[in-house]
Amino acid sequence: MTFRASIISLYPEMFPGPLGHSLAGRALSEDKWSLELTQLRDFGEGKHSRVDDTPSGGGAGMVLKADILGKAIDAASPADDPRPRLLMSPRGRPLHQSQVRQLAEGPGAVIICGRFEGVDERIIEARNLQEVSIGDYILSGGEPAAIILLDAIVRLLPGVMGNDTSGDTESFETGLLEHPHYTRPQEFEGRTIPEVLTSGNHKAIAEWQQQRAEKLTKAIRPDLWDKFNKKIPD
Ligand code: SAH
Repeated sequence: MTFRASIISLYPEMFPGPLGHSLAGRALSEDKWSLELTQLRDFGEGKHSRVDDTPSGGGAGMVLKADILGKAIDAASPADDPRPRLLMSPRGRPLHQSQVRQLAEGPGAVIICGRFEGVDERIIEARNLQEVSIGDYILSGGEPAAIILLDAIVRLLPGVMGNDTSGDTESFETGLLEHPHYTRPQEFEGRTIPEVLTSGNHKAIAEWQQQRAEKLTKAIRPDLWDKFNKKIPD
């Protein structure tokens, strides 16, 4: 089964963008995942193919219309589509590696990219949209957020990463940030590679890596450290 991504956007030309390069790009050309693009404007109405309108109750900006979004979603994803329908939104649940992993194990995703002030609230309920945020800051549109989400998913798909185990110790997979990395030369501007890493003693190396991961997490992400110690699931 190939992971199927469908994007609904006013700027489908932004895709595949970065996803057409490197790991994700190679996987796309090898059909390890597929990408379908829907131009929201194609479902717009009137002479100007209108997709938005002014917010009810007043206020700045424009709101994407529920009826237009509904038609686009139904065209990209029929009612019996098993894929989750995601709406990129700063109001959503913050994206986490555990959700990325869950999505990567599924049949794909339908991803709706907002613009302007966002979407008419009623479409979220009517089409069971799951809101996903990529962090506590505001982007001008959902497209870069969708690219980030897909990048995180695609690298986890079977056969995409060269070494299938290399993801296992990555930051957030273990509940900790990852330990630091080094490579040759042995000395760089007077700084050397920690001796233990060149000792060949695998047990000592693993202990050092674990210690450093814990130290880093404690210092940089006390929130993660707390969760790790209390064994709180994501
Ligand atoms: N008025 C909204 C922001 C709209 S930003 C608010 O204050 O909450 C326009 C669009 O960009 C959104 O509809 C969403 O699709 C996308 N977007 C902005 N920030 C995002 C974030 N942190 N995560 C995911 N999508 C985001």
